[in-house]
Amino acid sequence: MDLSSQDIKFLPGVGPKKADLLNKELGIRSAEDLLRHYPYKYVDRSRFYYLHEISEDMPFIQVKGQIIRFEKVGEGPTQRLTAIFTDGRETIELVWFKGVKYVIDKYKTGVQYVVFGKPSPFNGRFNIVHPEIELVSQLPPPEQMGLQPFYNTSEKMKNSFLNSKMLQKIIFPVIQSIKPGIPDTLPAYLLQKFALMNLTESLVNVHFPKNANALNKARQRLKFEELFYIQLNILQQTKWRDQHFKGFVFGQIGHYFNTFFKDFLPFELTGAQKRVLREIRIDVASGRQMNRLLQGDVGSGKTLVALMAMLMAVDNGFQACIMAPTEILATQHFASLTEFLGDMGVSVALLTGSTRPKARVELHEKLRSGELNILIGTHALIEDTVQFSNLGLVVIDEQHRFGVEQRARLWRKNVQPPHILVMTATPIPRTLAMTLYGDLSVSVIDELPPGRKPIQTYHYYENKRQGLNQFIAKQVEAGRQIYIVYPLIQESEKIDLQNLETGYEYMREVFPTYTISKVHGKLKPAEKDHEMQKFVTGQTQIMVATTVIEVGVNVPNASVMVIESAQRFGLSQLHQLRGRVGRGAEQSFCILLTDYKLASDTRKRMEIMVRTNDGFEISEADLKLRGPGDLEGTQQSGLPFDLKIANLAQDGKMLEIARNAAMEILEDDPQLIKTENRVLATQLRKMKTNTLNWGSIS
Ligand code: ADP
Ligand code: MG
Repeated sequence: MDLSSQDIKFLPGVGPKKADLLNKELGIRSAEDLLRHYPYKYVDRSRFYYLHEISEDMPFIQVKGQIIRFEKVGEGPTQRLTAIFTDGRETIELVWFKGVKYVIDKYKTGVQYVVFGKPSPFNGRFNIVHPEIELVSQLPPPEQMGLQPFYNTSEKMKNSFLNSKMLQKIIFPVIQSIKPGIPDTLPAYLLQKFALMNLTESLVNVHFPKNANALNKARQRLKFEELFYIQLNILQQTKWRDQHFKGFVFGQIGHYFNTFFKDFLPFELTGAQKRVLREIRIDVASGRQMNRLLQGDVGSGKTLVALMAMLMAVDNGFQACIMAPTEILATQHFASLTEFLGDMGVSVALLTGSTRPKARVELHEKLRSGELNILIGTHALIEDTVQFSNLGLVVIDEQHRFGVEQRARLWRKNVQPPHILVMTATPIPRTLAMTLYGDLSVSVIDELPPGRKPIQTYHYYENKRQGLNQFIAKQVEAGRQIYIVYPLIQESEKIDLQNLETGYEYMREVFPTYTISKVHGKLKPAEKDHEMQKFVTGQTQIMVATTVIEVGVNVPNASVMVIESAQRFGLSQLHQLRGRVGRGAEQSFCILLTDYKLASDTRKRMEIMVRTNDGFEISEADLKLRGPGDLEGTQQSGLPFDLKIANLAQDGKMLEIARNAAMEILEDDPQLIKTENRVLATQLRKMKTNTLNWGSIS
C-alpha cells in the first residue's frame, strides 16, 4: 500500500470532518503526511515530582496527590475555576478558564490523581492552567510510562478535540501497519556510510520511542534526510542553471572604474569593501552568471560597493540598475550616487512611482538607446515597459522586501540573465544562508568605515522617562534629531496606532517649541514621503513613527533612537532600528524602553542589544532564541520550504554533512540515473511537485 495515496479520512477514528481539519490546519492529507508530522517535543512520563521541586524553566511537571477543594472565581465569561491540589506536603493551584462544569463533575476531592502540566509563575507562586488529570489507579504500568510525544495542533483543532493526544491515537494504527517494513527513502549506501537508522524504525521511534537512545537515532536520521534532500535539490538546480545560462563577461577594468577609484573616491575603501569588490570582480569575469548576496551591517558602505560594481558593467558596455524597496531609499541612492560620480560623465537616472509620464517617456527612450548607464529606482523598474539596451548587472537593495517573482522578472530584462548582486543589512547566519540560497555566493562586509563611534545602547524602564526627556532636549539643543519608534503589529493595529498618537501628543506637550513628524503605515505613500522628507531635510527635530522607518533611511544628523515597548520587537528588528542612528560623526544613542515585567527571553534580548553592536552576533542569538521560522527577512519572504524536524540553529553541523554528501553524489552521478540513486531521483521529483520552484531564487 502506498502511504502517500492513502487518504486519512479512511483511517480509524478520523472521518471526513477531522480529515478536513487536518488538511486545512496542517496540510495533512495522506497517511504519509501524518507520519511526517513529527512530534515537536517529548515528555518523560516515568518521572514524578514533588511540588517543592518546581522551577520557572520546567516545561512541565507531573505530581501525584489529591484535590483539597474547588473554588469558582468571578462571573460570566471571565469566570474561572481553581482547585487546590496537594502532594501531601505543599499545595498548588490548578486553574480552568473553560469547561468549568465538566471539570467539577468529573474530578472529586480526596481521590488520588496524577496532575500533569506546565507550571507558570503567578502572583509570586506557581499554578498550572488546564492541567491533564488522570486517576492514579488507571496509570499504565511503569514500564509503559515512557516518552510521550507532543504534536503541534492549532486552536481550531483543539476546539474540535483534535489535540495532541488525539493525534497520537490516530497515528498509532498507521505506525502498526508500517512495522513489517516500508521502502527506505535514502539509498542503502548512505544509511551505511552515516550509520543511520532505517526509515521504518525511524518513523516508529519518532512517534512511539522505545527509549531515549532510539528516539535520538530516529531524529538524527530524519533530520539528515530532510537537510540532504533540500541540498540535493538546490545543488542540482544550480548545476542545471550553470549549464543553461552563460554569464556576461566583464573582461576589463576600464576607464570609469579606474577614474573613479583614482580621482573621485572621497575616502579609502575599507579592507572589507576591497575584498568584496575582488570577489565580485572574479564572478563577473568568470563567464558564469553571478548570484551574490552581499551582507553588511547598516552603515558598512554597501552602496559604494554597488556603485563600483556598476562601474565595472559600464566599463564593459553594459547598463546597470539598482532597485530599492521604497521611494525614499531610491531617492537617497540617487542623491548619493550622483554626488559620488560628480562630473565623471556617467549618466544616471531615477525612476519611481512618482516620475512624471513625460519624464518617464524620455527615460525609457534613453534606456533603450543605451544612452543611460545606470538606472536607480523602486519596483517601478520591473515593469515591462522598462526596457534596457543591454542590462548587465542588477543590484537589489534590502532584498528581503522583494518576492521571488519580482526578481525573476528582472532576469528577463536581457537575452541572458544579468549578474545579480543582492544587498542586505539583515545578517543571515551561515547555516540559514546555505539552506535558503544554496546556490548563492555570499560576501560579507564585516568592518565599518573608520571613525564611527559605536552606538551606546541603554535599557530603561518607564520611571526614567523624565530623565530621557531632558536628554532628548539636550540633544536637540545641540542640533541633533531624534527618532521615537512604536511597535505596530497587525493583530493590535488599532491599539498600536493609538499608542503612537498618544505618544505624539505627549511629545508635543513636553516639547512645545519643537516640530515633530509623525509617520505610520496608514498614511498614503505621498504623505509618508512628505513627512519623511521633512525629517531628512532637518525641518523637523523629532520623528514619531512606527517601523516604517526600519529600512535603510539615512539621516546622519539623527543621533537618538528611542524604541517604545521594545519588548515587543525581535532582536533583528531592534538592531535594524538602531542602525538608523550612528551614521554621522556624532556620538549616537539607542534607548530601549520596556515594561517592568519581562519574560526571561525578552530580558535576554535587551541584554544582547545593550552588550553588542555586532549584527552577526545578534542574528545568531536571534536564531537561537526564536528559531529560523521567525527570523525577520525570511519571515516576509517565507522559507521556501518547511523544516519539519531539522533546526538550523542547532543542526548546522549536520547541514554541512548532508550538503557534502549531496555534492559528492552529484559529482559522480549528476542525472541520478545509477540504480542505487534511483530512489533519490524519485524523491526529488516528489518534492518538486509539492513545492514551487525556488531553486532559481536570485
Ligand atoms: P549601508 O551599508 O548601510 O548601505 P551606506 O552605503 O549607506 O551603508 O554607507 C554609509 C555611509 O558610509 C555613507 O555615508 C557612505 O558614504 C559612507 N562610507 C562608505 N564607505 C566608506 C569608507 N570606506 N570610508 C568612509 N565612509 C564610507
Ligand atoms: Mg543601504
